[in-house]
Amino acid sequence: MKIVGTVKEVREQVKEWKKQGLSVGFVPTMGYLHEGHKSLMDAARKGNDKVVVSIFVNPMQFGPTEDLATYPRDLDHDAALCESAGVDLIFHPEAEEMYEKDFCSFVDMTGLTEGLCGKTRPIHFRGVCTVVNKLFNITPDHAYFGQKDGQQLAVIKRMVRDLNMDIEIVGCPIIREEDGLAKSSRNTYLSKDERKAALILSKAVKLGEDMAKAGEKDTDKIVSEMIKLIETEPMAKIDYVQAVDAVSVKPVKEMTAPVLVAMAVYIGKTRLIDNFIYEG
Ligand code: AMP
Repeated sequence: MKIVGTVKEVREQVKEWKKQGLSVGFVPTMGYLHEGHKSLMDAARKGNDKVVVSIFVNPMQFGPTEDLATYPRDLDHDAALCESAGVDLIFHPEAEEMYEKDFCSFVDMTGLTEGLCGKTRPIHFRGVCTVVNKLFNITPDHAYFGQKDGQQLAVIKRMVRDLNMDIEIVGCPIIREEDGLAKSSRNTYLSKDERKAALILSKAVKLGEDMAKAGEKDTDKIVSEMIKLIETEPMAKIDYVQAVDAVSVKPVKEMTAPVLVAMAVYIGKTRLIDNFIYEG
């Protein structure tokens, strides 16, 4: 497994593989890798001859008061996990490699990016779309994203469709801890008590999912029961709980599939997200 830091090195390697007729799967990440990331690598491994993982904490998708400086990083651990997953190449650029000082070209999106996480993180999806676009221009074929970031997956799929990008997007299910908490690099911020309190997210997801499965069609009812449950946890502060069309990310009143029921909840200072998709 190689670790490279420049666009040129990735391009050359990918070109070489392409010349040999090999397919390349790509998994973009911000590092501090866990089983959730590994599930994307496993899917990429299964579906392609070669696998590239990017590890880049993208400054452009963090707001001024967010956790860019403290975001956890551990390249040695990440490299070992990638190696064990059979990854062929890690792209680990410095911010200067990705953004020249006079960088001024962005990919922005309207509609899908204004609600849910976009409301509290107004510049987030512009940063995500721009960096993912740049990465897709370096590593083609198939790219793997987690359903954990449900809105992000919808946004990336739409960007690829709208801009005729020649890449297939593969969505992968949420990987959870044994007790239900969705795996996240940010879980490391949680104290012992907060870690316990954080379970309220997956409990609310389960409640909503069970109601939907039992035939409840009114999204207001589902969301208000989920909110009621989250409010029983004193350490939790809700950013949003909302039901939206999983493709357009527009609010929906009725559970007409596919519906994304998504939430962001602060546990102490840590903002966690979780969701489920109702497919009917
Ligand atoms: P991140 O490093 O947090 O930017 O995540 C990189 C990719 O891993 C994104 O496509 C995420 O949706 C995905 N991912 C993160 N956590 C999980 C999880 N628990 N289950 C599945 N995919 C995940």
